Amino acid sequence: MIPPIASRFVAGTTASGALDHVADCNETGLGGIVNLLGEHYHDREPADEDADVYCRLVDELAARDLNGSVSVKPSQIGIDVGLDVFAENFDRIVEAAADDDVFVWCDMEDHTTTDTTLDVVESAAQDHPHGVGVAIQANLKRTRDDLQHLADVPAAVRLVKGAYDEPSSIAYDAKAEVDEAYKEYLEFLFREFDRGVAVGSHDPEMLDAAVELHEEYGTPFEIQMLMGVREDAQRDLAAKGYEVNQYVPYGDKWMQYFYRRVRERKENALFALRAVVGV
Ligand code: FAD
Repeated sequence: MIPPIASRFVAGTTASGALDHVADCNETGLGGIVNLLGEHYHDREPADEDADVYCRLVDELAARDLNGSVSVKPSQIGIDVGLDVFAENFDRIVEAAADDDVFVWCDMEDHTTTDTTLDVVESAAQDHPHGVGVAIQANLKRTRDDLQHLADVPAAVRLVKGAYDEPSSIAYDAKAEVDEAYKEYLEFLFREFDRGVAVGSHDPEMLDAAVELHEEYGTPFEIQMLMGVREDAQRDLAAKGYEVNQYVPYGDKWMQYFYRRVRERKENALFALRAVVGV
């Protein structure tokens, strides 16, 4: 059971609750990207179990005829256990999703996992062109090269700023530098990825840049934002005709995710405090 304080950011503990939330999103013109919370499994069993859940989730999304996809964390399906475990589980999920015509996103974790994640996604994309996509982090200095490479891979890209503290030798740290890099990579994506771009950001400046680039290049794009963050803006953008997909986390491992949301922004911390003290 999720306390009301966390339910702004997490769609309950069960798959059916998360799918109900996606149905509600669909009612307001938003798609849903379902993520079962869980990360850093060091044993095969929980990694396989979560992969099984994703296989059932894609079936359910299709059975309920929902506008939704799934997003998977590499360390949730075995990257810390072994490359083969991660690859097998990811392939299994992508196969099941392809049968249901459901799209699979792969979240990106810290820089120690980037190469393996890209290899596994690329291989899945060769088997299922346009059925998978991967998050790419603007804060990493390697990203320019990764995007050049991905231009020839039939996978989608979700551009995000990057959520992990990385060493300054390999990553930009200052917000201004990350924002600058984000805009540069966005321009590259709109220019080179005529198949489409996913803009994973709540930042009005980045969203405005995407709209301008769309007008310039005509490249289709979707906006992805987290459940509980700028939801009014999500609905407004959808009402204006933009494709908006909400990232919908669920599951009993909600605590860490909730605290991450609270820590990253003063307004979220105030919201949590108000919920606790009842003002
Ligand atoms: P920020 O730089 O945090 O904020 C810029 C501006 O956006 C703010 O000044 C404000 O105007 C607005 N804003 C931001 N947050 C709020 C808020 N809570 N309320 C009101 N206004 C706000 N990171 C990864 O490393 N790997 C991933 O796989 C990954 N997947 C993601 C998937 C999705 C759908 C999204 C939205 C993010 C994902 N992230 C991922 C997180 C991402 O890297 C950033 O850490 C996170 O999105 C914060 O950056 P931002 O672009 O939203 O804007």
